[in-house]
Amino acid sequence: MDTKSYVNKLIENVKIKNPGETEFHATIKEVLTSLIPLLEKEPKYIEEGVLERIVEPERQIMFRVPWVDDNGKIQVNRGFRIEFNSAIGPYKGGLRFHPTVNLSIIKFLGFEQIFKNSLTGLPIGGGKGGSDFDPKGKSDREIMRFCQSFMNELYRHIGENTDVPAGDIGVGGREIGYLFGQYKKLKNSFDSGVLTGKGIPYGGSLARTEATGYGLVYFVDEMLKDKDLSFEGKTVVVSGSGNVATYAIQKVQELGGLVVACSDSTGYVYDENGINLNTLKEIKEVQRKRISEYTKYHYTAKFVEGSQNIWTIPCDIALPCATQNEINIDAAKTLVKNGVIAVGEGANMPSTLEAIDVFLENKVLFAPAKASNAGGVAVSALEMSQNSMRLAWSFEEVDERLKNIMKNIYNNSKNAAETYGFEGNLVVGSNIAGFKKVADAMLAQGII
Ligand code: GLU
Repeated sequence: MDTKSYVNKLIENVKIKNPGETEFHATIKEVLTSLIPLLEKEPKYIEEGVLERIVEPERQIMFRVPWVDDNGKIQVNRGFRIEFNSAIGPYKGGLRFHPTVNLSIIKFLGFEQIFKNSLTGLPIGGGKGGSDFDPKGKSDREIMRFCQSFMNELYRHIGENTDVPAGDIGVGGREIGYLFGQYKKLKNSFDSGVLTGKGIPYGGSLARTEATGYGLVYFVDEMLKDKDLSFEGKTVVVSGSGNVATYAIQKVQELGGLVVACSDSTGYVYDENGINLNTLKEIKEVQRKRISEYTKYHYTAKFVEGSQNIWTIPCDIALPCATQNEINIDAAKTLVKNGVIAVGEGANMPSTLEAIDVFLENKVLFAPAKASNAGGVAVSALEMSQNSMRLAWSFEEVDERLKNIMKNIYNNSKNAAETYGFEGNLVVGSNIAGFKKVADAMLAQGII
C-alpha cells in the first residue's frame, strides 16, 4: 500500500474508533496528511507503528464534578483530562472551562498540544483537560467551589513530573489560584511546578500572562520579516478579547500596527481609531462584561452582533484569537478578497481545514496555531524551570527567551517545509518538525 492510502486508511480507522468526534477527526486529518512527505522518506515511522500509537491517548480520564451553587442547589459537571503523550516530558497543557467542552474537543486540543509542545524545544509532553462548566455569570465563590471540586479528583492524576495543567479558555489566574490551593491542601505539599500560570507571589512566572499573545505577534513578525514586511502601519483585525487577544493587541500596537476590531461570542467592536486597550482590559479583566460595553466609553466605535462578521472587515493581517473553527471557508474567501496578506492563529485550530486551503492556495502568509500560539505553553515550561530551581527570572529575561523560542519555531517549521518539498507551507513544516522529535523519542523508548 502506498503511503497516502495507508494514511487515509488510518484516518478512517480513527473516525470509526472515535465516532462523532468531529474536532478530533479534523486535527488527525490535518496532522497525518501533512506527514506524508516525511513518511515517504522515512518509512521507519510506519514500520514501527508510530502513527497507530500516537493517535491513541496514553490515558483518558473523565470524572464527575459536583458542586453547590449560591442558591444551595447541587450542580453536576463533567471533568476531563487527556494524557496524550509523555515521550518527551510530563503531560502538559491547559484546562478549558466552557459549556461546549466535550471529549472530542479535549482530544483535539490534547493531540495538537503534543506537537506544539515539541516545537517549543522544551521537555514537555502533550495533554489537555477541562470541563463543560460555564464560568459566565458565576460568582467568585461559585468559581472557587467548582475549582475545588474539580481538583478533588484531578489531584490524584497530576504532579510536577507526571502531568502539569495550566489555563485555557475560561481558566485564568483566578481559577489556577483556587486549583493550586486545593491541590496543596490535599497533598500537604507545596509542589509549585504542578500547575503553571500561577500568580506571581506563589511561583508564577513574569510574562506568562502576556506570553501567548506576545508570542503570536513575535512569530508573525518573523514571518513578515522574511518577506521584508512588518506590522508598521498595517490594519489588523484580532478576534476574541480574552488573554490571547488582549496581549496580541498590545504587542501589535507596540510594533506600530492599527488594531481596528476585536470580539467576544456576542459580536465585535470596530474602532477606526484603534482599539483602546485600557478600556478593553477594564471591561474584560475587571468588570468581566460583554464587549458591547466598549461603545459606552468610545462613542465613535460601533458594536456589530455576530462574532463571525468580524472577518468581513478589510485588513492586512488577521489574528484569530477566539476559538476553534471561527474562520470557515467563506470567511477565508472574504479575507482573501479584501486583500489580507497574513493570517496568524492565536486560538487553537481557528481556521477550518477548508479555510487553510484557501489561504495556502492564495499565497497568504499563514501561521498555524501549533507553531504560532506555542508561546503560552513555552513560558509555562519556563515557569516549571524556575520552580525547579526555586528562583524567578525578570520580565525581560523571560520575554527575551520567548522571542528566541518563537524565532526558532518559525525557522524550524520553515526549514522542515523546505526539506520535504513544501517551501513556504508552515502547516506541513510545523507538523513534521513537531512530530519528528516525539516520534524519535517513542522509537527510542520501545513499545510501551
Ligand atoms: N492552553 C494553552 C495552549 O493551548 C497553554 C497551555 C499551558 O500553558 O500548559 O497551549
